[in-house]
Amino acid sequence: MIYLPDLIPTILGSVESERTVLKAVPFTDVKFTDKFWAPRIESNRTVTLPQCFHQCEITNRIRNFDVASGAVEGKFDGIYFNDSDVYKVIEGAAYTLLVHPDPELDKYLDDLIAKFAAAQQDDGYLNTYYTLVEPDKRWSNLPVMHELYCAGHLFEAAVAHYRATGKRNLLDIAIRFADYIDSVFGEDRMIGVAGHEEIELALVKLYEVTGEIRYLNLAKFFIDKKGLKGTEYNQDQLPVREQSEIVGHAVRAMYLYTGVADVAKYTGDQALMATMDRIWQDVTQKKMYVTGGIGPSGHNEGFTVPYDLPNESAYAETCAAIGMALWNYRLLLLHGQSKYADILEKVLYNGSISGISLDGDKFFYVNPLTSRGNHHRQPWYGCACCPTNVVRFIPQIPGYVYAATSDSIWVNLYVGSQTKVKLDSTEVEFAQETDYPWSGNVKMIVKPSKTAVFDVNMRMPGWCASAKVSINGQPIDAKHGDNSYIKINREWRSGDTITLDMQMPIQRIAANPRVKSDIGRVAIQRGPVVYCLEAMDNNDSVLDVALPRDAQLEATFKPDLLGGVTILNGNALRCKDVDWEDTLYQPVSDDEKISITAIPYYAWDNRDAGEMAVWLPEITALAEYKSAKVSASYVYGSLDAIYDSVIPKNSDDQSIPKFTWWSHKGTTEWISVTFKKPKRVSRVEVYWFDDTGHGECRVPESWEVQYLDGEEWRIVTGASKYGVEKDKFNQVTFDPIVTKSIRLVTKLQENVSSGILNLRV
Ligand SMILES: [Zn+2]
Repeated sequence: MIYLPDLIPTILGSVESERTVLKAVPFTDVKFTDKFWAPRIESNRTVTLPQCFHQCEITNRIRNFDVASGAVEGKFDGIYFNDSDVYKVIEGAAYTLLVHPDPELDKYLDDLIAKFAAAQQDDGYLNTYYTLVEPDKRWSNLPVMHELYCAGHLFEAAVAHYRATGKRNLLDIAIRFADYIDSVFGEDRMIGVAGHEEIELALVKLYEVTGEIRYLNLAKFFIDKKGLKGTEYNQDQLPVREQSEIVGHAVRAMYLYTGVADVAKYTGDQALMATMDRIWQDVTQKKMYVTGGIGPSGHNEGFTVPYDLPNESAYAETCAAIGMALWNYRLLLLHGQSKYADILEKVLYNGSISGISLDGDKFFYVNPLTSRGNHHRQPWYGCACCPTNVVRFIPQIPGYVYAATSDSIWVNLYVGSQTKVKLDSTEVEFAQETDYPWSGNVKMIVKPSKTAVFDVNMRMPGWCASAKVSINGQPIDAKHGDNSYIKINREWRSGDTITLDMQMPIQRIAANPRVKSDIGRVAIQRGPVVYCLEAMDNNDSVLDVALPRDAQLEATFKPDLLGGVTILNGNALRCKDVDWEDTLYQPVSDDEKISITAIPYYAWDNRDAGEMAVWLPEITALAEYKSAKVSASYVYGSLDAIYDSVIPKNSDDQSIPKFTWWSHKGTTEWISVTFKKPKRVSRVEVYWFDDTGHGECRVPESWEVQYLDGEEWRIVTGASKYGVEKDKFNQVTFDPIVTKSIRLVTKLQENVSSGILNLRV
């Protein structure tokens, strides 16, 4: 089997012409040669993809298809939308196959597809949850259940697989299912919409590959029927054409509007276009993090009110950021305006790739902008939407770089790459050489197959205030148009070279004053990359650091750090070691002058665990005062809960932050408290966490207090009883000691864990 792009199967039927300003140059025609994205695409292929397939196997996501077909005995296992994860990984695999032939992977996919075919019902229906658990309840709970969502991911996988291999085995399964759905839903049939959108954009993809107009019409139907009797949670509160605000579940919103953009692309529906303008302004002007993340609340996995952008509790799901990229890319093609590429780029370099570790083997579901060191990537999640979204997103990125019209080439993103673009007048080989995003210098080599007149449009990023352009070494006066693209129209000869030199200063970003969480704070950005401070580069603590306005920062590229990153160094301030224990007022003392190092936000949590912050206060009065530093042998929950002065209502108080050692059971564990300076201690009070009845934490079997004497831990003497009672502070007194640090060494009860709601020393 040969998978050269030239042999990509032609579409099966003709489709309406696109009403877009720009046409995409597909990712199959773009080869990345850079040091930033090319290694990520490779580790997605060699690490992330096999890991996702392995997880789909060991979590029975794939076995569910065998059970549904009767090939093996058993029951449905997992969450009701788990089929979608398998489809998403196949989609990622197909993109990979298209540019990287792999007979073994090709065969593996064929085996999986045979399982789907066997599980598909006679009428075309395919959903292992309903087939195995509620066979007579199909389509009975559209708002909550994800039948149409799973179908959509099947269609996307099928289109990708067909385009990659030319084989119809998965496409035919998708077509049978789509035809069945089309026979169920319609004006004179069942009226309903997807609770979790996805099918709308997927039906348009199926239309694009088959030319079957019914699929486009069905996508339009699912959009048109929104707002009849639904809720904000799935953007069903109003007809789409009347919507003005982004609401509800963030991933659902992004998938819906991506589908809306796709339908508008073929229908030219001006009312849909106007809706997207309003929604885009609402989200980008009031509801988006500086990282491009969206959806601040874990409560609805989505949007709340304007300017509500908390940093530590930010949800900002990886999938929502990816959805933001998918949608903005489509808007870019529809309108040819750089402002959409600005958002796409912001998401690409920040809020989306923060969702995957540098090694490609661990994922974030939520992407906070502040951490106390207790938020870490995981190899997989029970609800695995984010890992399986990353694996299909990364290989598509080459497709976002270039676009074209009949007589112009558009450079939307700056990435070292090569492509070939067919214009009316000639075919053009086009290459970029650049160290972007670390440098704003881009060299572009234009090689038309014959000398011809055409336009080259280069995007002027929103972050860039000034750029110089030269052609074959000769500076030219280049200004960007209203669309923020610099247009160069001339007769191009093979080998003509454009140099674009974008100034890339370190920028301090302020938030709209209505964003309460960011008042008095700045974020640091250089080019498209947003930075953060991480504890391990900054003397183990960053939440007590302030970045005054006059602090000088300097950028340095570090090839061996975090896969090669530009770091920022500079001066800053830290709250001085002032002791506020037992003191209400005292004279102001000078701040401590310190040096700081900032790393790209996306690269955090790839080394030792610790605090992280994107938004830095400009004065230490807004930084956190820390009376002591708390550490533990192991953390589940919040370390800060231990010393936060919040008094629990009882030992099972679920309304306040808590620290636990869960899931360690029966072990000996410790927490330590290190003071700002040596302190006289003679009493410790501890409020144990115990969630008997619904959790696995109990008061411990026993505990003792130790103190640091020089380098050695010693047990306190003359101790009273070490209490393990619930719903109260257990006080122990002992012979007074003067120490910088004490610790509680705790033996957990057999088979259970333990935790602490509060500690007083
Ligand atoms: Zn997700």
